[in-house]
Amino acid sequence: YTGKTGSELLTEKISKFKVHEYQSVPIVVKEDASVYDAISTMFLEDVGTLFVVGEHACLTGVLSRKDLLRASIGTQDLNAVPVHIIMTRMPNITVCRKEDLLLDVASKLITKQIDGIPVVKDTDLGLEVVGRITKTTITKVFVELITDNHI
Ligand code: ADP
Repeated sequence: YTGKTGSELLTEKISKFKVHEYQSVPIVVKEDASVYDAISTMFLEDVGTLFVVGEHACLTGVLSRKDLLRASIGTQDLNAVPVHIIMTRMPNITVCRKEDLLLDVASKLITKQIDGIPVVKDTDLGLEVVGRITKTTITKVFVELITDNHI
């Protein structure tokens, strides 16, 4: 018996959660995909954030719902605009890695005021996108903590 309270045990447990235990599948589009394609992909894949990859399938940008809405207002032909024109681009992308603590990534979602963060793997050619952590990921963990009674 450790003498730790339930709340201390819970805190200890949560603070050890790693990104790779909770990451979901990333949905990516290519830099030369059109804004129209990106909107279609966002609906079909049912996600709110798309990651953009260039040559060698490495991360070059991020597209949020509002990025696509903004681009759609006052643009005649959404098929004619490639996403690399409107995306938020590297090096201004907040990323995380599979061994990172989930709590640190959750803090980044708040401080950067974003909905999703790509999980990346470092390669010689750039950052390979291997997963994603979103506000939904964190919400699911929060509910699981109560329903699975982790301690
Ligand atoms: P929305 O724009 O739909 O409210 P977000 O809050 O996720 O969705 O995005 C806000 C802005 O931040 C957008 O311009 C988006 O491109 C950018 N953004 C989203 N995710 C990231 C990220 N991981 N790193 C850097 N910028 C991001």
